[in-house]
Amino acid sequence: MKRGAALVALFLASFFAVGFVLPVFLPSKPYSQAEQFALRIDKALDALEEPEFEAFDLALAWPLEIAPYLQYERLTVQPVNPAVVFEPFPGDRHAHIAGYTFCGNEFFLNLRYINWISSWYNDVSSLATLVHEMVHTAGGDFCAWNSEIAESRTQLGTLEVLAGMANHGNVVAYYALLDELREIAMNTALLEALQSNDLDGYREFREQIFPGDKMRAARFEKSMRYWAGEMITLKQILKKYSAVVFEDLQDGKFKADLPPGDGDQDTVFMDDLMYILENLS
Ligand SMILES: [Zn+2]
Repeated sequence: MKRGAALVALFLASFFAVGFVLPVFLPSKPYSQAEQFALRIDKALDALEEPEFEAFDLALAWPLEIAPYLQYERLTVQPVNPAVVFEPFPGDRHAHIAGYTFCGNEFFLNLRYINWISSWYNDVSSLATLVHEMVHTAGGDFCAWNSEIAESRTQLGTLEVLAGMANHGNVVAYYALLDELREIAMNTALLEALQSNDLDGYREFREQIFPGDKMRAARFEKSMRYWAGEMITLKQILKKYSAVVFEDLQDGKFKADLPPGDGDQDTVFMDDLMYILENLS
């Protein structure tokens, strides 16, 4: 009996040691480079008022304004002017696919963006989706068979187009750019957390960005449950749309076979993006 009591006491002592004492004395994990970047962008976003955004302008006004920037930012030597088509995506694509294109003269966006009863309606982040799909249609490596090349180059091109528009005084593009940069850095941090099996650490970091936002947290947890059986696919998505992009944007330039594409790699200088990052307060 005595030995049993001692074991219980030992068990309780270790429980208290692990449960209460250690967290007090252990230093909290330092933020990764991606997490620090996300926190920096988040601070800049918090200082801004979210601009008004009219979803139906995605159909015509925004494409007309954006298209010339693809050439001006030297993503292509050819003018592009693709048509945008809104499509109701069936099944779970409704919740997970923002847009797609076959890289011709048209691209397709999720109809939720212009469905006025949808939570996606009038969301400024849809502007980044619009630019992303437009950049794909330019061709070259933006439409490469290798989807990691295609998506990461397209993301980098999207950031530079939004930055170019922002530096010309477009406050909506500026907001959408910062929102997208924060998303890319957060998804890079999520991939790191999945690889190091430290999702709780990521949740703590996430709470710094969206403190007390219970619905957003619920959406995140739901997506983790949704992807639980397809972790390899999720990691591939996080890598090609975010982690590779986050790494390459540090250089302020990226390599791509530019449209129309001759197989040679050219360099795109992300001068507008660098200007914004250097002058971010
Ligand atoms: Zn894409």
